[in-house]
Amino acid sequence: MNIAENLKFIKAEIPSGVKLIAVSKTKPVDAILEAYNAGQRLFGENKVQEMFEKQALLPKDIQWHLIGHLQTNKVKFIIPFVSLIHGVDSLKLLKEINKQGLNNNRIIDCLLQIHIAQEETKFGLSIEEAEQIFDKELFQLKNVNIVGLMGMASNTDDKEQIKNEFQNLKLFFEKLKATYSTLTTLSMGMSSDYKIAIEQGSTMVRVGSAIFGERIAAVS
Ligand SMILES: *Cc1c(COP(=O)(O)O)cnc(C)c1O
Repeated sequence: MNIAENLKFIKAEIPSGVKLIAVSKTKPVDAILEAYNAGQRLFGENKVQEMFEKQALLPKDIQWHLIGHLQTNKVKFIIPFVSLIHGVDSLKLLKEINKQGLNNNRIIDCLLQIHIAQEETKFGLSIEEAEQIFDKELFQLKNVNIVGLMGMASNTDDKEQIKNEFQNLKLFFEKLKATYSTLTTLSMGMSSDYKIAIEQGSTMVRVGSAIFGERIAAVS
């Protein structure tokens, strides 16, 4: 199957209220253009440098989502064009995004990344840390707009565990929404688990390999 066919297949499986982010990390500009020509406008990258280089070469109506871990010293490179930052996992980072947003006269949409997986390696805030940011900072930082939450489930074949992790995130999202009614976005689900994520209330899925094919593992 080619990229356009993969996209069509996945879109048919996703309800209309769920946004599809095509995760194009490691894939060439040509592959992104193929998806673009098939109508896709939302793309996700996990590295600042790579996203910066690609956006310069590609149509300006693409909405770029940074989905990976973001270092504070790299925030400034993406602020002029980024559409949504998914992986905000510290107050320090949020403050830097706010500062650079102010410098660029933009209000930057962000998601707080919540640690829901059992693995130690995945980035993210605890529920308590996220609650503190909402309670103390949400209205102080004028150039960031926290629109929701993002999470990654454990990398496991245990569907029940994945379901439970997504369910916990959805519960926390609903709890926050009771106070902060403007929250719109729950980013959860990737190629292997987006169907489970949608069943559990995801509003945004981040799908890479199911659209663009397997990535060649990075040599480390
Ligand atoms: C790579 C990546 C994805 C997409 O992964 P696939 O398994 O290729 O769909 C989604 N979210 C994040 C944060 C990623 O880094």
